[in-house]
Amino acid sequence: MINSILEIIKDNFYHRESSNDLQIRCPYCGDSRSNPRTCSLYISKKPVGKYNTYVYHCFRASCKAKGTLYDLLLDLGLLSQLNKEQISFLLTNYNKHKLHGKLNYNDTDNKIIGKNFILKTYSSDSKNDEKINYIKKRLGIDYIPKFLKKYIVTHVEVKKYSSDFKIKPYILKMINKTFVGFKTYNGSKIIFRNVNADMNSHMKIRYYNLRLKPEVDYFIITPNSNVFNPLKKGKIFLAEGIFSLLHGYFGILRKNIINHNDNLLLGATLGGSVKTFNLLYNYIVYTFGVPDWDVFILSDTDININMYKSFSKNVIGNLNILYNHGKNDFGEEIGSLIVEQF
Ligand SMILES: [Zn+2]
Repeated sequence: MINSILEIIKDNFYHRESSNDLQIRCPYCGDSRSNPRTCSLYISKKPVGKYNTYVYHCFRASCKAKGTLYDLLLDLGLLSQLNKEQISFLLTNYNKHKLHGKLNYNDTDNKIIGKNFILKTYSSDSKNDEKINYIKKRLGIDYIPKFLKKYIVTHVEVKKYSSDFKIKPYILKMINKTFVGFKTYNGSKIIFRNVNADMNSHMKIRYYNLRLKPEVDYFIITPNSNVFNPLKKGKIFLAEGIFSLLHGYFGILRKNIINHNDNLLLGATLGGSVKTFNLLYNYIVYTFGVPDWDVFILSDTDININMYKSFSKNVIGNLNILYNHGKNDFGEEIGSLIVEQF
């Protein structure tokens, strides 16, 4: 199997070969300029390392690019030339490799500590807090499940103001008083919502996105984290907003369409167009290595199924579009479901 995959690279690149490696000119650094025949990027022909994966490595001191063979093919735009068997072959241990250390956060005692700030997450003394009650109400649940707690941000404390971390003191005060937020997957953003419904006050801000790092990020969680396993086939649920996603998840859980032992990944695009589903899906596939999972979109009712057509071409598993019939989206009470399939 590995040989057939390496053939695809050989067909596309100037290369050299030894019994252990395939060598190509490094596409990441451009390789040696003085010698156009130098091939500095080595691809292992045998799985190596702790996770027993196929990897690449550029030996140029100025580059040192490295990663898994799957990543290389993805970066080179060659994945589409692989068949499903070849992809699952590459993903056998890739997922373990990718996930290593990724699902653990640097959080201790309900705090997330950054260079310039401290985020306070759900704690037992915030149990009956107005903010927590708001979340329970919006999600239609009577207690906050464990998997969600570390994502809920109730307070922000600024350690140090700097040029890359600016937040106006009145915004900070407002957040700490009446806002509750959700942390994105890499913690680069906190999506805040005002829990004070009294919009007659002079400060009518409903939402605030606190940006902590400039990178692209989404809201992604694995609700059944004790059974979550990227090596087994599972289901990806996507929605535009966090409340639609989570309210929809709890709703369809109650309807027994999914259950607590399902292997699930949930992701919210955090607004935008249908196009952003594509970006979020690619991000999930890349991060978790789950290209063959079935995808379920908890769709807003006003988005016609045809608008998902171009997205469907990108999905290897089955793509299902779910509509909450008679309602605007999955943030509202879950009535009868309409499921459309591509
Ligand atoms: Zn290189």
